[in-house]
Amino acid sequence: MTDSYDLIIVGGGCVGFAAAMYAGRMQLRTAIFAEQRGGTIILTDVVENYPGFKKLTGTELAEKIIEHAKEYDIEIFDEKVASVEKVGNCYRVSSRNQSLIAKTVLFATGTIWRKLGVPGEEEYANKGVHYCALCDGAFYKDKVVGVVGGSDSAAKEALLLTQWAKKVYIIYRKENIRAEPINTKRVAENKKIEIIPNTNVVEIKGGKFMNRAILDKPYNGSTEFSLDALFIEIGHIALSDLAKNLGVACNQKGEIVTNRAAETNLPGIYAAGDVGDAPFKQAITGVGEGVAAVFSAFEYVNNNTFDCPKDEKEEQE
Ligand SMILES: Cc1cc2nc3c(=O)[nH]c(=O)nc-3n(C[C@H](O)[C@H](O)[C@H](O)COP(=O)(O)OP(=O)(O)OC[C@H]3O[C@@H](n4cnc5c(N)ncnc54)[C@H](O)[C@@H]3O)c2cc1C
Repeated sequence: MTDSYDLIIVGGGCVGFAAAMYAGRMQLRTAIFAEQRGGTIILTDVVENYPGFKKLTGTELAEKIIEHAKEYDIEIFDEKVASVEKVGNCYRVSSRNQSLIAKTVLFATGTIWRKLGVPGEEEYANKGVHYCALCDGAFYKDKVVGVVGGSDSAAKEALLLTQWAKKVYIIYRKENIRAEPINTKRVAENKKIEIIPNTNVVEIKGGKFMNRAILDKPYNGSTEFSLDALFIEIGHIALSDLAKNLGVACNQKGEIVTNRAAETNLPGIYAAGDVGDAPFKQAITGVGEGVAAVFSAFEYVNNNTFDCPKDEKEEQE
């Protein structure tokens, strides 16, 4: 019979695998569940702000972190976790094929796209309406496309789209976009990009494919705005339902509330990366939080006694 895991990490993005690397180094018995290895960062073409690497693609960064984690004795399950329950002072982590017991759990489940929530968005999903420029931008060579949003991610998406599209409009509800200064400058200097400020998209229309967005105020004299595609980049929603069902405290946005040691309100439960309530969400900050979580888990495992049951498979033997 095997002992329970010291740490189970739920989520296989850059934060989950960085935490797994650290946990492996600290000789915690560690498993990581990754529904999809790499997570959000693999959807961006260029990362220029991860210390140690002047410039690399998001996929390259994720691969480096995963390879680093695999240097240590960790177990990887390419599966989606369906539930996390408390058993004694331990936790049962269940997926379709596994039911494992852990002394501590780290949620690094990240986020999903926030939808615009306007008529036509669902109807034209993948028929002009998209959420990832790297994935779908190449379909729009020499076309006119829009990006909804004003964050750094939105600016980066717009810059990437200029590789294919002949014109890119950033449609933003406020006066000024709030990208990193270097990306704001790149947007301003790129002749293919035009910002339409103080404007909302209220509907998406078309035939078989979308062909126009309806704006809440006229642009060039009309609220009907011809576009071949619209990329929606208005933020993300934390994937915190598993944690919430366990009783982990979340803020109004659904993000898991943590302290600087990545601890949640429940003993032995940690959160890091985009699923957490830190205001600034980047790969490097998330990775740092993941490392803090592992250090907290290490202390917790070594300073407590546990009454973990064996997993179900072992109980039947
Ligand atoms: C367009 C864009 C550009 C960006 N550019 C940069 C940049 O240049 N530099 C930078 O530092 N950051 C950048 N970011 C932000 C960066 O991508 C995120 O901060 C980072 O990827 C967060 O990592 P994470 O591991 O917390 O979450 P994620 O990357 O979202 O990973 C979470 C993982 O958990 C998995 N998961 C979720 N639920 C479960 C479950 N129940 N069971 C198993 N697995 C599960 C998901 O499938 C996913 O693989 C960018 C983001 C976007 C959208």
